[in-house]
Amino acid sequence: MTAPGGVLPDDVVDAAMVRALRLAVTAQEWGDTPIGAVVLGPDGAVLAEAANEREKRGDPTAHAEVLALRAAAAVHGDGWRLTGATLVVTLEPCTMCAGASVLARVARVVYGADDPKAGAAGSLWDVVRDRRLNHRPQVTGGVRAEESATLLRAFFRRRRAL
Ligand SMILES: [Zn+2]
Repeated sequence: MTAPGGVLPDDVVDAAMVRALRLAVTAQEWGDTPIGAVVLGPDGAVLAEAANEREKRGDPTAHAEVLALRAAAAVHGDGWRLTGATLVVTLEPCTMCAGASVLARVARVVYGADDPKAGAAGSLWDVVRDRRLNHRPQVTGGVRAEESATLLRAFFRRRRAL
């Protein structure tokens, strides 16, 4: 089903992004910025998923990607390595999450909207494809970007109105 390097079919990745967007919506229930992440195994099966829980946990590192990568590593069966896995996230990862993706050895990072203010997968930095690192995940941005951006804009608009 998958080519080496974790290149899953577009429909599998798209379905994961839809799932991540649903998780992003739930993050708002507890006051967190709407961001969701799903980790797919090499065969496209969902290993783990998470929403942003920074406010919920009072934890500056509880970004959706970090929570999903941790949970995925717990079930993937290769120790901490997520070899062949794909991280699907609704917003371009920050430096921490881009770094975590590299450290987890994921094959591919797929994200939705660009984050020009903090993105570390090409916007402000490019941590995931830095040639000085010996592991560099493939990167695909812009998957359902408008849906993610709309969700984020509405969230910040509501928050400013409070
Ligand atoms: Zn992050």
